[in-house]
Parts: sequence; C-alpha cells; structure tokens
Amino acid sequence: MKKTLTSLALALSLLSPHLYAKNNVVVVATGGTIAGAGASSTNSATYTAAKVPVNDLLNAVPQIKDLANVSGIQALQIASENITDRELVALARQINDLVKKPDVNGIVITHGTDTLEETAFFLNLVIHTDKPIVIVGSMRPGTALSADGPLNLYNAVALASSDDAKGKGTLVMMNDSIFAARDVTKAINIHTNAFNSQWGALGTVVEGKTYWFRETTKRHNNTSEFNIEDIKTDTLPLVQIVYGSDNMLAQSYLALQQAGVKAIVNAGTGNGSVPKYIVPTLNQLQQQSIQIVRSSRVPQGFVVRNAEQPDDKYGWVAAHDLNPQKARLLTALALTKNADAKELQRMFYTY
Ligand code: ASP
Repeated sequence: MKKTLTSLALALSLLSPHLYAKNNVVVVATGGTIAGAGASSTNSATYTAAKVPVNDLLNAVPQIKDLANVSGIQALQIASENITDRELVALARQINDLVKKPDVNGIVITHGTDTLEETAFFLNLVIHTDKPIVIVGSMRPGTALSADGPLNLYNAVALASSDDAKGKGTLVMMNDSIFAARDVTKAINIHTNAFNSQWGALGTVVEGKTYWFRETTKRHNNTSEFNIEDIKTDTLPLVQIVYGSDNMLAQSYLALQQAGVKAIVNAGTGNGSVPKYIVPTLNQLQQQSIQIVRSSRVPQGFVVRNAEQPDDKYGWVAAHDLNPQKARLLTALALTKNADAKELQRMFYTY
C-alpha cells in the first residue's frame, strides 16, 4: 500500500512538478519596523527600527520552510525614511542580479513601511522579470504584543513562491492583502491595516494560499520601457516635491531650482490646483527646462489634464492618479531618457 502511494506521488510529481517541488525564495532584508525592537511588549509605536538581522527574522517564522526553500540576504539595515535614490538604485541592481539566477523563483524584500510604496513602484518600473517580487513590512516591531511582522512575512513568502503571482507586477503584501505597487499607499500611520489602494487590493493570502480578484492594467516589469540595466549612474536625476496649501511661497520652488532640480512635482490642492500667485514662478522654471508635474495632496481621485490649470498652454504635466512620491520616481526615470513634457505625460498615462 505504502509502495503504491509512493509511486502515485512520484507519478504526480512528474506530471505537475510545481505541486511537489518547493520554489526557492530569497528574502532581501533592508530594515524597517519588521526588523525593529522595542523595550517592552507594550511598546507598539516606540521602538528602534532596523535592529534584527535577516537570519533572526527568518528563524522567527520557521513555518516559511514549509512553503519554500528560503535563504536570506541583508542588503541594508535602515529605517526606510533614510533611503535615497542611491540606495534605491543599488537595491534595484541587487534584485536584478537575483531574478536573473535560474535557481531563484521569487523575491521577498522586508522593508520599512514609510517609503515601502516608493521602493515597490521603482522595482515595478525597472526590473524586467515575471518572477514575483514581493515587498513586505510591519507596523509593530517583533517584540510587541500581536506583532504583525511574522504573519506578513509568512504571507509574503507564500506569495513570492506561488506560481500564480508570476507576471502580476511587483507586489506589496500587508495585513493579508496583496496590492499592486503602482497604486498602493501607506494611508494609516499607526494601525496594522496601514496600506490601501484607491482601486482596491489585487487579492489576499489566507493560510498560505493566494486568492486573486483583480489585475493591474498598467505596464510594469517585463513590459516597462525602463530598465535598471540602462541606468549607468549611481543615482537619479534630481526631482523634488513641493506640498501645496494655502499661503504658499514662491521661494520654496526657487530654492529647489538653486539646488539643481530637473523637475518639481507639485503636490497641489484638490485637482492639482496651483495658486495664481505661484503660476508665474512655475512658468519661469518651466522655461528654464525644469519640468512641472501637477500631482495632488488628496489621496484619492486623479489629476485631470487641463482642468484647474492649462497644462497644454504651460507645457506642464498632469500626474494622473500617481501620488506625489510615485510621480517623483516616474519623473526621475523619464528624465534618464530625456523625456520632454509630452513624453512624460504619455508615461503618466501608461504606468
Ligand atoms: N520608520 C519605519 C520605517 O519606515 C516605520 C516602519 O517600518 O513601519 O522604516
């Protein structure tokens, strides 16, 4: 009987090897709260991020070994607000090398939640692969009561090792939900349901199994026109954000010009509106070859071209539904290709 069952299992594994052979997943650790430690178990918000090394993170969740063959790499050990374009470019190169290896089936990146969406979107644009790349964080350090990191990591490994995650774009795994890198954002800064997307989650992971409900319609990864291999510098063209409000100062924009920005993303009020006393300054900068991108400080909706401001007339760009921090990255990548305002506008509709 046992022999028959063994032969049956062998025959099935030959027919459907993916059901039986475990995939190889590399966990690339960068720091953040998921690697954080607090003084006591009741410290859920007061703690030091980026303390716990990758092997300890993996050993804390031994159940991931049932899902995949997991190995760890410590790429960085920092809080994610400290990431600059230099770290982003270096990390992308490291991930690009990993996805090229035939024996790597999926990647999990453990990351601080503050700029997790930026890293996810950048990788979504510059890594050409259909292998799952999953970014995961946590809102509570591992030392806290009801720490969310262990289950988030378990779910992330489940997702990165699942064949059905292939080709779906760079993914963010938080609080059981699977999000698309382009529209996920940190929307709550204190609770474990910190991330959302105005267009909804793509799916969910329950008990190590993936369930899918949507797909992104935007270009990403293999179909992206950007590629980390084409970026020859260690950083990106300088793009900065100015936050819109009432009572603004033209000097904020002029200071950025002094600092050498190549583009300014205006996180405008409402539908990307700009005060009439700021418009001449932006036009002056635009005429000096600084791209002006109208995004919005409002977390949902999208900026409509030529509404609120005459973008065609001014040569400005509407960021569509990309939030200011993602608009900054897309603009920087566009500038590596010397995109003009028209080209940049096309990119905002494409990604
Ligand atoms: N400041 C931390 C970070 O982004 C917060 C977190 O990980 O939740 O690294």
